[in-house]
Amino acid sequence: MMKLTVLGRWGAYPAPGEATSGYLLETDRHKVLVDCGSGVLANLFKLIRQEELDALFLSHYHYDHSADLGCLQYAMKIAMGFKRRSQPLPIYGNNRSSRYSELSYREYTVGKEIHPDTIVDLSGLKVTFYQTVHEEYNLAMRFEYEGKVLVYTGDLGPATQIAEFCKGADLLICETSLFEHEEGLFPGHMTTKQAGELAEKAGVKELLLTHFPHIGEIQKMPSEAAKYFQGQVWPAEINKSYGL
Ligand SMILES: [Zn+2]
Ligand SMILES: [Zn+2]
Repeated sequence: MMKLTVLGRWGAYPAPGEATSGYLLETDRHKVLVDCGSGVLANLFKLIRQEELDALFLSHYHYDHSADLGCLQYAMKIAMGFKRRSQPLPIYGNNRSSRYSELSYREYTVGKEIHPDTIVDLSGLKVTFYQTVHEEYNLAMRFEYEGKVLVYTGDLGPATQIAEFCKGADLLICETSLFEHEEGLFPGHMTTKQAGELAEKAGVKELLLTHFPHIGEIQKMPSEAAKYFQGQVWPAEINKSYGL
């Protein structure tokens, strides 16, 4: 089984006491961080120790997905310096940005390139990637383990082809930066309606909305998405876990 815990759920910048994009994906054999936004580490280290983390996957380099990267590298340095950790942390990211070079930090972290045709196999956890429509090069990720499937979009605008990549997922984590009536306000981001339509078209079981906007009543977002999707819709909540 896989378990997904929300560590951060805001777009752009964190709400007071909270964090931007970050998720802990666990199996019986893995602890993987997915995106590393502002404030994410403070929530991550409530749940695991520095030496337990197996890998970080970055969807893209916008700061709301990567701001805590430098401090994560210091955490690895300290864990290795005190001999609590023996291996560098692999950090998977695309090389379309000059910031790819920041992923490797001395002997503590090592950058690993990912592309739409990359297949990562972390001892049974298979990860594949898909380039979305966004203002920066962003890779959505599909995690498969023991027959279960989780897809995380990172940031994206509406595009029909991505439904194929999300097909049959047990859980789709989709950004919703916009309410239904705000379509087109920020290109390269999704409305609640578009997230619901994507989930429906892809035939996923459950939809987790995240990457929330700071303007508007976000508690209304799940019901907006649910008008277009027959499965279960969840709003991302800090430290809440979703099993699949
Ligand atoms: Zn973002
Ligand atoms: Zn972005």
